[in-house]
Amino acid sequence: MAEKACRNCNRIVEDASECPVCKNNDLSDSWNGLVVIYNPEDSEISEKMGINTPGRYAIRVK
Ligand SMILES: [Zn+2]
Repeated sequence: MAEKACRNCNRIVEDASECPVCKNNDLSDSWNGLVVIYNPEDSEISEKMGINTPGRYAIRVK
């Protein structure tokens, strides 16, 4: 199972060719760090990263 990260919003994308959040198809194999966002409204990390949708996100995407 391949996990890739969206270069636009950092969302981790499993077995898909486009990001389910922003519909971008520019996905990277090369990413590291992982954060899980449960409540974007209530999270400093999601605020810093500009995340509005719960899910798993890469911290760095190359
Ligand atoms: Zn995205």
